[in-house]
Amino acid sequence: MARERTLSIIKPDGVKKNVIGKIIAMFEEKGLTVAAAKLVQLTKGEAEGFYAVHKARPFFGELTGFMQSGPVMVMVLEGEDAIAKNRELMGATDPAKAAAGTIRKLFSASIGENTVHGSDAQETAKTEIAWFFAESELFTR
Ligand code: ADP
Ligand code: MG
Repeated sequence: MARERTLSIIKPDGVKKNVIGKIIAMFEEKGLTVAAAKLVQLTKGEAEGFYAVHKARPFFGELTGFMQSGPVMVMVLEGEDAIAKNRELMGATDPAKAAAGTIRKLFSASIGENTVHGSDAQETAKTEIAWFFAESELFTR
């Protein structure tokens, strides 16, 4: 296992449901630390840029529209195996298929409004973190 950083976003539905603290508690209980965090509201253009990899997918308009619909909590999580640990905690993309006890099973209404984003690999984690944070804004503990 390697010490890693990953980008986590609590999407507009999670912020609206007022479960930021519950979700962060799940990360902390899994041994991850919050190295950076801020609430931001993306513009449609920013949401399109962040999710550019999904541009050709049929749900791109729905996804980017949703992601700019309200504030999101953007965080860098840090710890051993942080990328996989975060993905495991998130659960499957479709909450109906997510395992019991995962964030998406607990809080998500649909495959589109699924409460959290998490980087899926080391390269994407690097790019996604740099999208939102300068190195000087990250605090390793
Ligand atoms: P994940 O977030 O689990 O990594 P993907 O990278 O495949 O999932 O998709 C990115 C996001 O796009 C999902 O989290 C979800 O919000 C949205 N999405 C994925 N598939 C669909 C779909 N079939 N219909 C609507 N939205 C979707
Ligand atoms: Mg993904």
